[in-house]
Amino acid sequence: MAEQRRDARDTRDDARDGRAGGVRDTDGEVARAWEELVATARRTVSDGLVVGTSGNVSVRVGDTVLVTPTGVPYERLTPADAVGVDLGGRQVLGSLLPTSELPMHLAVYRTTGAGAVVHTHAVHATAVSTLVQELPLIHYMAGALGGAVRVAPYAAYGTPELAENMLRALTDRTACLLQNHGTIAHGASLSQAYDRTAQLEWMCRVWLTASSVPGLSPHLLTGEQVAQAGERLREYGQR
Ligand code: 13P
Ligand code: ZN
Repeated sequence: MAEQRRDARDTRDDARDGRAGGVRDTDGEVARAWEELVATARRTVSDGLVVGTSGNVSVRVGDTVLVTPTGVPYERLTPADAVGVDLGGRQVLGSLLPTSELPMHLAVYRTTGAGAVVHTHAVHATAVSTLVQELPLIHYMAGALGGAVRVAPYAAYGTPELAENMLRALTDRTACLLQNHGTIAHGASLSQAYDRTAQLEWMCRVWLTASSVPGLSPHLLTGEQVAQAGERLREYGQR
């Protein structure tokens, strides 16, 4: 990977100038955001939400979006590997190639006030994405994601078509499933986007478990009950 990296002299010059590649980083905000992004990407692996280099993570710092590079194992990422693009997708930081799912990440930032995006191939969520067009209202935590979680119709990974399908499924929601592919969730911060992903995977697991009991089918909540929970959850943990 060394040949893909900017050389050490560039990095030293940048540090002296308070710059990270083409991005000014006088107070170290970009460096700190990159560190948190790498920790989040590693967590998707250690928590079993992805295998290998699947999935991707991004975080917005001003007009720059830091993203995981495509196809690089997260444990190998160092502070010198930071990759950043502007909202138009032009690379402004780093020399590793940005994630192939840049169209999905940028579509979220362009249309919402999100600060971070997490995409995974979590097992139960991916299984559910092959069975239904919407995750049945099995638990009130759907309210934390804006209501019933939709499944975006399948399109090849990394394509603008997948980003379009995802945006439609995300209307008034902070997460959706991607058919025969996985999850995507956004939030104000990396920890919020990650937590929403983990809650979605957990709900998919509950629904699969309850709906696999022979001869019985799970009781479901109404949209009204989930909306009420969503309202209550706005205050959850605030005091
Ligand atoms: P990248 O390695 O390009 O981020 O791709 C992983 C992935 O999940 C594609 O959908
Ligand atoms: Zn993927």
